[in-house]
Amino acid sequence: MQRAIRIAAAATRRALSSSAARASPPPPRGPLAPGWGATRWLCSGREALSYDVVIVGAGPAGLAAAIRLKQLCRAADTDLSVCVLEKGSEVGAHVLSGNVFEPRALDELIPKWRQEDSPIRVPVSSDKFWLLTKNQAWTLPSPFDNKGNYVISLSQLVRWMATKAEELGVEVYPGVATNDVGIAKDGTKRETFQPGVELRASDFENTGRITLLAEGCRGSLSEKIIRNHKLRERGQGQHQTYALGIKEVWEIEEGKHNPGSVIHTVGWPLDTKTYGGSFLYHLDDRQLAIGLVVALNYRNPFLSPYDEFQKFKQHPAVRKLLEGGTAIQYGARTLNEGGFQSIPYPIFPGGAIIGCSAGFLNVPKIKGTHTAMKSGMNV
Ligand SMILES: Cc1cc2nc3c(=O)[nH]c(=O)nc-3n(C[C@H](O)[C@H](O)[C@H](O)COP(=O)(O)OP(=O)(O)OC[C@H]3O[C@@H](n4cnc5c(N)ncnc54)[C@H](O)[C@@H]3O)c2cc1C
Repeated sequence: MQRAIRIAAAATRRALSSSAARASPPPPRGPLAPGWGATRWLCSGREALSYDVVIVGAGPAGLAAAIRLKQLCRAADTDLSVCVLEKGSEVGAHVLSGNVFEPRALDELIPKWRQEDSPIRVPVSSDKFWLLTKNQAWTLPSPFDNKGNYVISLSQLVRWMATKAEELGVEVYPGVATNDVGIAKDGTKRETFQPGVELRASDFENTGRITLLAEGCRGSLSEKIIRNHKLRERGQGQHQTYALGIKEVWEIEEGKHNPGSVIHTVGWPLDTKTYGGSFLYHLDDRQLAIGLVVALNYRNPFLSPYDEFQKFKQHPAVRKLLEGGTAIQYGARTLNEGGFQSIPYPIFPGGAIIGCSAGFLNVPKIKGTHTAMKSGMNV
């Protein structure tokens, strides 16, 4: 309720102007229509947002940037209006759960998080690395060091970070599309067409306002900006490469659940020419996050990452964990695999690209959450 009031009040305060005003100076911060719907009616076209800092994407990068900005404002006894736009229906809706989290960025951002009611509760208790053949699982020395890390639900983490950001005065708007939606393949507008919110980049350049793109891997706005401003060439970054991660969260039988257990695998069902591997992370509440990551440069055109994942779940060492359990969540998401050498120059006139939008995932560690946060905090 309080949040709804805050959003309505914010929408009234903020300048949301019509497309006709696009070329004009930033709209005055006077009262407009109360709430989003009424503003839409008022504008009858594209909404334009005018804030000191607009952050696109409520993932770890965008929220860490928002929190750090407001902390800096407090320290300098000043204020900047900061908003975070999220296309998911709620914060965390488009973020895949089940993550081994390295807390060092959070230690810097919210040093007292351990004393708070954060969703980071399950320390890594064991860290195994298996080589799979069709029927066997061979234990190898683990190339990862997850001591001091936590098994978390990333969607819970971002929801918690969003409340932290809001406590500091950040306005977080889920369900906001920055791209037009409801366009048919032939380019015509369907009945469901809704214009995306316009980010007033020209205003940012003219008045010093900032846009931070934190859309995650291969964000549509970020890719456009990287192309238009030749940021890859400018940063001497190589092309980016990608993998697809398919993930499910299962509720498994109590006796099979081992909170904090982390297992990574290589080998079967992928062949020796296909780069990838799987993971099994035991969260709390009998939950197991299980997934397969397949690099998207696979040679066999008939390979289906989804079908390989189904095969993987039939491996004797995996199947026995899942038997008697229930799948409660599923999703798929791309991740950057290019590494350090594929990071473009992350700054453009009026803004910056942060987190996985820029490719800050540490590939050998398969960790991008804390690096995304750090890139947002240091921007
Ligand atoms: C299968 C898989 C497993 C992983 N496991 C781990 C792990 O164990 N440990 C680890 O540290 N990292 C892991 N990662 C990587 C980690 O998830 C990412 O590095 C991290 O989430 C990046 O954060 P981000 O804020 O840059 O982007 P994201 O977390 O992707 O967040 C981006 C947000 O922006 C929103 N968005 C995108 N475009 C728009 C737009 N135009 N307008 C409005 N909103 C938009 C999205 O809906 C999303 O909420 C894994 C990734 C995958 C895919």
